[in-house]
Amino acid sequence: MSPDRADSSITLSSAPSIAPSIMWFRHDLRICDNPALMAASQAGRPVAAIYIYDQQSERPLGAASQWWLHHSLAALEQDLSAVGLRLILLRGNPQIIIPSLAQELYKEELSKEEGAGGVFWNRRYDGYGVETDSQIKSALKDDGVQVQSFKANLLFEPWEIKNGSGEYYKVFTPFWRAAQKLGGIEPVFSTPKNIIGFAGRLADEVTLDDLDLLPRQPNWAHGFSQYFTPGSAGAREKLTRFLQDERPEKYDNDRNRPDLFATSRLSAHLAFGEISPRQIWHHTRAKTDKGDKFLSEIGWREFSYSLLFHNPKLARVNFKPAFDKFTWSGDKDKLRAWQRGQTGYPFIDAGMRELWATGWQHNRVRMVTASFLIKHLRIDWREGERWFWDTLVDADPASNAASWQWVAGSGADAAPYFRVFNPITQSQKFDPHGDYISKWVPELSRLPVKFIHTPWEAPEQILKQAGISLGQNYPAPIVDHKIAREAALAAYQAIRT
Ligand SMILES: Cc1cc2nc3c(=O)[nH]c(=O)nc-3n(C[C@H](O)[C@H](O)[C@H](O)COP(=O)(O)OP(=O)(O)OC[C@H]3O[C@@H](n4cnc5c(N)ncnc54)[C@H](O)[C@@H]3O)c2cc1C
Repeated sequence: MSPDRADSSITLSSAPSIAPSIMWFRHDLRICDNPALMAASQAGRPVAAIYIYDQQSERPLGAASQWWLHHSLAALEQDLSAVGLRLILLRGNPQIIIPSLAQELYKEELSKEEGAGGVFWNRRYDGYGVETDSQIKSALKDDGVQVQSFKANLLFEPWEIKNGSGEYYKVFTPFWRAAQKLGGIEPVFSTPKNIIGFAGRLADEVTLDDLDLLPRQPNWAHGFSQYFTPGSAGAREKLTRFLQDERPEKYDNDRNRPDLFATSRLSAHLAFGEISPRQIWHHTRAKTDKGDKFLSEIGWREFSYSLLFHNPKLARVNFKPAFDKFTWSGDKDKLRAWQRGQTGYPFIDAGMRELWATGWQHNRVRMVTASFLIKHLRIDWREGERWFWDTLVDADPASNAASWQWVAGSGADAAPYFRVFNPITQSQKFDPHGDYISKWVPELSRLPVKFIHTPWEAPEQILKQAGISLGQNYPAPIVDHKIAREAALAAYQAIRT
């Protein structure tokens, strides 16, 4: 045992008669279709269900995700208690806590030098998670403790899908084709029943409130719960509504319209593992044979994870090294205007305010707001990635990094850099009546539809009637679209030559 582990402080404040299996929850905060929980419950011992809040990782959770985590853990506590388990909350470094806990729980068995106990978890695929888990696994094995890990949060392991040369795919379409050829999606695991819970207590247990995950003064997340109910029950409800409203059938047509309620809004539930992609897959297939387009978006999530697994620094390093030479602007005022929804482009501002108010932003809008930051403002995509990481409730290490690189043009299978989304025509096309803008930028709601996408083109009289004074109660555009587009293309040309 290494000295730091010997010094670690996990102790039992009350001892159980039989040492329990340890079920370590991470991004799998559900009891249904949870193979690690199922295996732990069948291992012939009581089960100690633990969650470790680890903010030491290289990528601590963003603030909006912390809000979600608080409510998700509260929901998991309830779900677990319905099957006889108590959720044990701990805080700190899992590389110290897990081996130390195993030592404490299994000390009598280990002294007999036969394999002892059992630690169960579902796999992670981000660089920090993979490295941490493999170090913990080998430490446990060295100590003689059994470990079992499972696939739970993806349909396919990232290493399963390889091209003819044995390499991972860099383009989505062949990736998804190859994935589907692997055979059917495994059935969903049922919820374990009659689990015997671990009766002991750990001296280092903390309460949910001790984790201090909720914002206070100001409580900027006060509006989130109008849109989302973290936890598996909230996830099931979102999926049921999505399927009942025949949204999969209309998805192909409507999914780009932020003014409609056309997508599933399951992303945060998936990011925290409150629902599994297998559950979504099978429920959708059982309900409709027109779910292919929707399920292919779940495929994009799988593709993003494959990219992240093979490129652990995807959130920091350009996938295409040519972009290392790109000269970004460091304009802090413009970055702040984008973050606050004060760019003077109504569609961009609506999107950034929706993000701030709800912790979520529609996918089409994410593409356009990201493109605006990168191409119109020429601010490094990593700044945008960081802002989304902090403000999205669905902030996901794979989908966020891969999508930002996709928009920047620096990623795998990326939109070419010269494709600059036009914030005006995108607005006119995907928010044709201006309803989305009116909702999130209410100061523009009295403008006629003709001018709601471009208030700076409205005659003075119309602005006056709508109560708008550009530069006073709504900003004039912070950049000119045409000039910004040309400057972006010139900067791109410079890295190509
Ligand atoms: C710049 C940018 C950043 C993004 N950051 C994230 C992020 O941090 N977390 C995140 O989950 N998604 C991210 N996305 C992808 C996508 O915008 C969201 O998954 C989607 O908007 C979530 O809404 P929904 O659940 O209603 O999606 P639906 O349209 O109902 O899709 C179903 C599910 O498929 C997955 N999915 C859909 N589109 C994509 C995509 N393009 N890439 C990967 N997975 C996808 C999500 O898990 C989603 O819940 C980002 C996209 C962009 C352009």
